[in-house]
Amino acid sequence: MRITKFEYLTPSSLEEACLVLQQHGSQAAVLAGGTDLLVKMKNPRHSHPQYVVSLKNIQGLEYIRRDKDMLRIGALTKLDAVANSEVIKTAYSSLAFAADNMATPQIRNIGTIAGNLCNAARSADMAPPLMALEALLNIVSPQGTRTIPVDSFFAGQGKNTLRSGEIVTEVVIPLPPARFALWYQKFSPRSARDIAAVGVAVALRLDSGGKCEKCRIFLGAVADTPIRAPLSEAVITGNKIDEVLAAAAGKQAVSECRPIDDNRATADYRRHIVGVVTKDAILEAYRGVVA
Ligand SMILES: Cc1cc2nc3c(=O)[nH]c(=O)nc-3n(C[C@H](O)[C@H](O)[C@H](O)COP(=O)(O)OP(=O)(O)OC[C@H]3O[C@@H](n4cnc5c(N)ncnc54)[C@H](O)[C@@H]3O)c2cc1C
Repeated sequence: MRITKFEYLTPSSLEEACLVLQQHGSQAAVLAGGTDLLVKMKNPRHSHPQYVVSLKNIQGLEYIRRDKDMLRIGALTKLDAVANSEVIKTAYSSLAFAADNMATPQIRNIGTIAGNLCNAARSADMAPPLMALEALLNIVSPQGTRTIPVDSFFAGQGKNTLRSGEIVTEVVIPLPPARFALWYQKFSPRSARDIAAVGVAVALRLDSGGKCEKCRIFLGAVADTPIRAPLSEAVITGNKIDEVLAAAAGKQAVSECRPIDDNRATADYRRHIVGVVTKDAILEAYRGVVA
């Protein structure tokens, strides 16, 4: 398949990029790594932007750094850098693991963390762990800047809540408190590095007595967007975690997902896997705290 003709724009500042995007509205699309955008542009079922606005000439959008009690990741940071960052591995090894288990080395060397979120696939592997971690997105536009939680960024399969002229500039993650762990588990029947048929992220904080003080559970690839599983969280919160409790929380998660049938898995199979993987992810997160 061939890509329809388009104009390639290479602004050298965020201000310029936002203005160009606003000027061309729905005719323009941001290009970060292009691993999703260019695939879509080859597909006749998708709309084709007349203007592709590359962020590659804009300096200062690729970094990972600790800043007081936050971890800051620039929008153009490659998935490979997330997977191999010592700062991320130290704070959240499961987030690094999630990035390391996406796609192929070639794609991870081009694809960016913000691109994975902005593409808004229900199966985006960066979404459930970042949502569980209460991560935020910094966004810039000609009107100024705003910050939104990652868990309110998705608006449907392939849709996000960005407005005309807006660009995501940074992902901000709070550093872990005491007695806290994150676990992200992806299930894909074809190979571990294929797109997720189910993804589950669990973030747990235990109190000094070993009971679950706070729990955030997010499910990927089993609804139009990655979703929170509050009923499953409620089973865990306030209790001492063991196999029986984790299995009960897994069962609740099954009742909260809304999967579809597709070529990766049937909806019924996905429901079954949600129960199994949620239970496992809760137990792994728990072990991560008590180890
Ligand atoms: C072979 C293959 C395997 C893959 N496997 C996986 C997998 O296992 N798991 C998974 O989650 N994904 C997978 N992907 C998808 C893909 O690699 C990721 O989603 C990637 O992170 C997208 O990043 P990008 O920088 O290439 O985004 P791009 O393709 O450049 O952009 C994606 C979308 O986001 C918008 N956008 C990008 N950056 C910004 C920004 N800063 N501000 C505003 N809008 C922006 C673009 O306009 C576009 O709509 C795979 C892709 C391929 C081709």
